[in-house]
Amino acid sequence: MKTDSLKKLLVHELKDLYSAETQLIEALPVLADKATDEGLKSAFRSHLDETKRQRSRIEKIFKKMDFSPRGHRCKGMEGLIKETSDVVQDVDDPDVLDAALIACAQRVEHYEMATYGSARAYAEKLGDYDTADLLQQSLDEEGAADRRLTTLAKRRINFEAAVS
Ligand code: FE
Ligand code: ZN
Ligand code: FE
Repeated sequence: MKTDSLKKLLVHELKDLYSAETQLIEALPVLADKATDEGLKSAFRSHLDETKRQRSRIEKIFKKMDFSPRGHRCKGMEGLIKETSDVVQDVDDPDVLDAALIACAQRVEHYEMATYGSARAYAEKLGDYDTADLLQQSLDEEGAADRRLTTLAKRRINFEAAVS
């Protein structure tokens, strides 16, 4: 499919998001398992539930558009997850690992936010306000997940990593 219209670009970005969320659904349980801090573990677990709902929203949009969400692999998310598993292998100290996991997870959230923001703008431009609204809901959740990670990093994890 040649991306020669805004509608096609929107479909492409949605497929990218669908793949990104699907990969994240597999990765988040591993992050929750590797994290030491209970607050961080529960942040990863609750974002897993949220991520499943986000993927359902994308499925809902595709159903309405009568397209399949499959057929594209998000290489950006693949790379971010690969870097995260390298970090898990390289870092031994648990507090330092928690800090590193937060940094990895925040990269993921920012990456998702960039795509949700663009896709929402395209949907709005195309007059598809239902889609724009669904994308905004997920965008808000990604923002909240990012802020929660910042709070965790500030309140204890980075501090403990610094003193240990
Ligand atoms: Fe997400
Ligand atoms: Zn991507
Ligand atoms: Fe996310």
